[in-house]
Amino acid sequence: MPDQVKSAPDITKKSEGPRVEALQKALDRELVHWKFPWRKIKIDGIAGPRTFDACNMVGWLKGFSPDELKKISSGHLTERDVEILSGEGQRTDAMEKRSEERRDEAERLRKKRRWLEEHPDSHPAPAGGHWVMFDNEEVPKWMVEEALKPARESGVWNGEVFSGRRSPEHCEQLCLDMCGAATCPGKCGGRSSNHCGPASFEGNHGEGAVDVTDPDGLRAWCEAHGNPIRGGGAVLPEDRPHFSRAGN
Ligand SMILES: [Zn+2]
Ligand SMILES: [Zn+2]
Repeated sequence: MPDQVKSAPDITKKSEGPRVEALQKALDRELVHWKFPWRKIKIDGIAGPRTFDACNMVGWLKGFSPDELKKISSGHLTERDVEILSGEGQRTDAMEKRSEERRDEAERLRKKRRWLEEHPDSHPAPAGGHWVMFDNEEVPKWMVEEALKPARESGVWNGEVFSGRRSPEHCEQLCLDMCGAATCPGKCGGRSSNHCGPASFEGNHGEGAVDVTDPDGLRAWCEAHGNPIRGGGAVLPEDRPHFSRAGN
């Protein structure tokens, strides 16, 4: 009788050991290769939130399907997933095609992140508003309480906020530099962007927007909890990291 080919067990949340460490090193290599060095993670051999966050990013770049990405974010990595994420397994034609289709969006994400890093917002939030700090970003208090904090504490969302409140001036300049126009509906929005917090700009209930990593994890949590915020591509397919009350 031929030997049974036995595959390694799935890597799940809190898995530990040399296989996790090897995956983490491979993810960092891939993140640098795909020009997302700011997403690199700590190599500690423990499959914590950051590891799955990086898996979601690399998996998206490599062309995993939306359902596969959801499964990865929920903490289920098969041996084959690990091989592909690590750059060792052969991708399917469908994956290569999706990866190609995501090229422009990936480039836009790199560009936007670079712009935000190089252009700190010099216009403070209006005094007396309801903005609080979360992951070093100004975010409306209601959004932290109703979505971001419980989603993180549940372990379903593995990511972090990388952009929160932006002033109207900042939003307009971002759009001018990125898109060559003062506004581009469905993408940056310019001065009308929900990142500025219209209509009051004070971070009142329902106002504001965030850009996050692991959009699939946050979307999964929100959809299971009455959609306090929407995003992850549900409303704006070309802006997966973006979440707001209505998703725009
Ligand atoms: Zn724009
Ligand atoms: Zn956004």
